[in-house]
Amino acid sequence: MRPNKILKKVLGLGLDVVIVDRDLVDDEHDPDVRPHLRVELRLRVNHRGRCGVCGQPSPWEDQGGGRRSWRHLDVGYATCELIADARRVDCPVHGATVAAVPWARHDTAFTRALEDIVVHDAVVSNKQAAADRYGLSWRAVNNACVRLAEEALGRVDLLDGLVAIAIDEVKYKKGHRYLTVVCDHFTGRVIWAAKGRSKKTVGEFFDALGPLRAAQLQFVTADGADWIRTVVAERAPDAIVCLDTFHLIGWATKAVDEVRRVEWNVLRKAGSADAAKEFKGLRWVLLRNWENLSGRQRGVIRDLERANRRMFRAWQLKEELRDLMRLPLVAARAALDRWLAWASRSKLVPFVKLARTIRHYRESIEATIEWKLTNGIAQSNNAAIGRIRSAARGFQHPKAFIAMIMLERGGLAPELPWSVAS
Ligand SMILES: [Zn+2]
Repeated sequence: MRPNKILKKVLGLGLDVVIVDRDLVDDEHDPDVRPHLRVELRLRVNHRGRCGVCGQPSPWEDQGGGRRSWRHLDVGYATCELIADARRVDCPVHGATVAAVPWARHDTAFTRALEDIVVHDAVVSNKQAAADRYGLSWRAVNNACVRLAEEALGRVDLLDGLVAIAIDEVKYKKGHRYLTVVCDHFTGRVIWAAKGRSKKTVGEFFDALGPLRAAQLQFVTADGADWIRTVVAERAPDAIVCLDTFHLIGWATKAVDEVRRVEWNVLRKAGSADAAKEFKGLRWVLLRNWENLSGRQRGVIRDLERANRRMFRAWQLKEELRDLMRLPLVAARAALDRWLAWASRSKLVPFVKLARTIRHYRESIEATIEWKLTNGIAQSNNAAIGRIRSAARGFQHPKAFIAMIMLERGGLAPELPWSVAS
């Protein structure tokens, strides 16, 4: 094979590209400086000009602003740079514009393959690791992520064919800054995310969805938030609104914790400091699900039955509620009636209140049980979004955060460059 042909293969360049020249810049006196491979390219003479912005075939305009270079994937020990003329075309829409080149996206200093692999790495590990690996700045990696997420969102329509969705909020920054996130129950993907948590934000989602597709929605799961429910009732009146199990159990867990705090204060004021201290340590055992407890921790709960009946009752109420959510509808209805009666006369203020809330949302809760739309998907997406947030040590701009969510949880992360036949 001729050296240029080998080089073209190694660099992953397509048939419409010709290597004009190549050179290895190497500083033999400084072993710390990596060798640098410079490859000059041109497009084949008969290559049709396309607009760099929209891809529309357009007549050639002029030579543009001269040469440009793109950082490419490293080749072994060497760094690599592609160099070519940045000719312009006359696009009917965008006017005189730098022509599209097959090896890079429009208006970037990196090749498509380098951007794809950097963003791929940023998604599977994190941006700093990707930046270190390729010797780029964190900012360059961040920009590549935003650019690729926007490009992917322009290419695929994640809002098509939705039947059951979950609408939820996630925090993106301290000080009550939130995003509204929408997931598809069937694919598990995040399909939409935007800054804010208000009726206006949910309205924006329905604007993007359009009335025809909104009419196709059969189920919407959400927490009790009125800002979601009101808009869903208006814009997708045929959809059944389900209260997601995740939030319901969250309310019960919170009620258990309130009871624990009250009981702890009672013990402390009664002067039994040791008992109070022990009680404080109970927190995680009480809040965790029974099946996740160790043998010793289960013993602690059993002892509670004698040690503190009020606390034990609160714990039982929480576990009972979790269990009944898994029953078939008819059995669950009867169990829910019993649960509400029990909670209402439990003499535990947080559970008396919770019973009232559950009566208010009863229809939504029964829909959840009937259609088995447990929010496992939204929950695992929320957990993943939390990891994305902490990996970035907080996002200054929601745009970068949304880009990472869509890349990772929307299934929009680029494939490795060589996994796509070119
Ligand atoms: Zn154009």
